[in-house]
Amino acid sequence: MTKQIGSLYVVATPIGNLADISQRAISTLTQVSCIAAEDTRHSGKLLQHLGISNRLLALHDHNEKQRAASIIEKCLAGENVALISDAGTPLISDPGYSLVRLCREAGVPVVPIPGPCALITALCAAGLPTDKFQFIGFLAAKSSQRQTQLAAVPDNAGTIICYDTARRILDTLQDVVAVFGAERQLVLAKELTKTFEHFAFGTAADITLWLTEDPQRCQGEMVLMIAPAPAKADEAIGEAVQRTLKILLAELPLKQAAALTAQIHDEKKNALYQLALSWQH
Ligand code: SAM
Repeated sequence: MTKQIGSLYVVATPIGNLADISQRAISTLTQVSCIAAEDTRHSGKLLQHLGISNRLLALHDHNEKQRAASIIEKCLAGENVALISDAGTPLISDPGYSLVRLCREAGVPVVPIPGPCALITALCAAGLPTDKFQFIGFLAAKSSQRQTQLAAVPDNAGTIICYDTARRILDTLQDVVAVFGAERQLVLAKELTKTFEHFAFGTAADITLWLTEDPQRCQGEMVLMIAPAPAKADEAIGEAVQRTLKILLAELPLKQAAALTAQIHDEKKNALYQLALSWQH
C-alpha cells in the first residue's frame, strides 16, 4: 500500500475584521497537525479567538528555507500543515514563497484556502479600472529608488497598486507627482474592513491635504492606487478634426460620426471612435 502524503494549506486570514475568516479556513486550521505562522504570538491571538488550540511553528523570512525542510518532511510523512501570515493572504508581501516553491519541487500538494487580501479588497471598491492592474508591493525606503520603481511600470499596466506605511505615505505621494505629474488621479484605501475604513480620492495634493488635516488620518494601514494615465487621444487629434467629429456626433450615431470624420480628414477611424467614446464618460 502506498503511503498517503500530507498537504500544505495556504490559508488567508482577516486583514482587520475577524468576521472575514472563512468556514474553510477555520476547519483547515482546526484539522491540520500544525500551523506555520509569521509571528506566533500575533497568530496565537487569532487562533484563541477562533477557539483553535493547534501547534504553531514560527516561519519568517530569516528561517524560511530551514523551516521548509522540516515542514516538507512532515508532509511526506503524511501530516497536513497550514501556512498563515499576520494578516491576509500568505506570500503577498509576506513570507511563504520559498516554502511553496520547495513543496512543489518535493511533490507536496499545496492547497490554497482563499480569503482576504488588502490589494484586492482595495481595488474592488476604488472605482479604478480592474481589467488590468499591476501590484508592485512595498516601495523602497529611499525616495530615488521609489521613483525608479514607479517609473519602471509600463504605461499600459492599468491601475498601479502598492502597499505603503503611515510613516512614508506623504513622501510617496511626492514621488508619485515626480513620476506621473500633479494631475494623476489616486485612491488611498485606509484601514480596510476596520471601523475607520476610508477611501480618499483625488490628486496627490488632495490626498496630502486630507491626510494632514487631521494627524489621526496619517496612521493605520494603507494601500495606494494610481489610476492609469488618461488616454492621449485629444492631444493627438487636431482641433479641426475634433470640431467635425463633434458636429457629426450631434446628428449621427457614434460609429457613423467617427467613420465620416475619418473619411473627411483622412484620419484613423478607430482613434476617432475611441475619442468620441471618451467624451461620453
Ligand atoms: N499579506 C497581506 C495581504 O494579503 O494583503 C499583506 C501583508 S503586508 C506585510 C501589510 C501591508 O498590507 C500593509 O502595510 C498595508 O499596506 C496592507 N494592508 C494590510 N491590511 C490592510 C488594511 N486592513 N487596510 C489597508 N491596507 C492593509
